[in-house]
Amino acid sequence: MPLDRRQMMAASAAAVAAGLIPHAVRAEVQAGNGTLITLSDGHLELPKSFALGDLPEDLANPVLARHGFTGDMLRSPCNVTLYRDDTRVVLFDVGSGTDFVSTAGLLFDGLDVAGVSPEDITDVVFTHGHPDHLWGLLDDFDDLAFPDARFHIGRAEWDYWQDPETVDTIDPGRQSFAVGAKRRLDAIEDRIAFFDDGDEVLPGIAALATFGHTPGHMAFEVGASDPVFVVGDAIVNSHLSLANLAWELGSDQNPERAAATRTSLVNRLSQGQHRLVGFHFPGSGIGRIEPADTGFRFQEDAT
Ligand SMILES: [Zn+2]
Repeated sequence: MPLDRRQMMAASAAAVAAGLIPHAVRAEVQAGNGTLITLSDGHLELPKSFALGDLPEDLANPVLARHGFTGDMLRSPCNVTLYRDDTRVVLFDVGSGTDFVSTAGLLFDGLDVAGVSPEDITDVVFTHGHPDHLWGLLDDFDDLAFPDARFHIGRAEWDYWQDPETVDTIDPGRQSFAVGAKRRLDAIEDRIAFFDDGDEVLPGIAALATFGHTPGHMAFEVGASDPVFVVGDAIVNSHLSLANLAWELGSDQNPERAAATRTSLVNRLSQGQHRLVGFHFPGSGIGRIEPADTGFRFQEDAT
């Protein structure tokens, strides 16, 4: 008898129970009328040259060394955000799935530990269409991993990945991103809802255009008073992105625009002392941004 998805999930839950997947559920905070937790999807190992782009090594290396990176690869954790209130169970992005890299795609383990089944997810809200945020949409059998969810994406982001010219205009190193995004977004074409800057995507969740990392990247403000900002990759890491807001980084598809976006977002978060979730930030990914040296630093919430 072939192994089905439910059996595979049971096997992976056993791995969690055996302690093989540490820190699957990372932290929990109040946000609006609900609670927000982060779940580890694993991590990426990125070549340093990819993260730097045109940023000179002599500027980047001292910052990276302070964060413990001295080699040619950078470890980038992946934190998927889950928001729950009385009526909804909302995922912000769906992680990498099993087709991208072997070190990520662990979201189902975290969900299991949190007591959430894939069928419980009522809504999925996307920050953008890169593989580590989107490719978990389909399971190993090309079925929708969250079969009962309604999906929400920024209109500009959808249009970009659906544009047949994107595969030819995107950086050659990212061509597989374009092919992979289109295939997955086609699978949810009949159950997708679009939003624009400032729209209320769901009750208590407002969209914030943060273009640059991708052409239609969106962040989210969750809760009206004392909101938590789910920033996705608008602030793509906690080291180079914060050390100097003027730095233009290779992780971003439009480095100049991303730096301008990041500058206004970081200043807003810092001045308001707002909490944020950074998808690739260390630990739980939940904390605040505060001024430091010539730039800013991430201070993780005590857990
Ligand atoms: Zn990412």
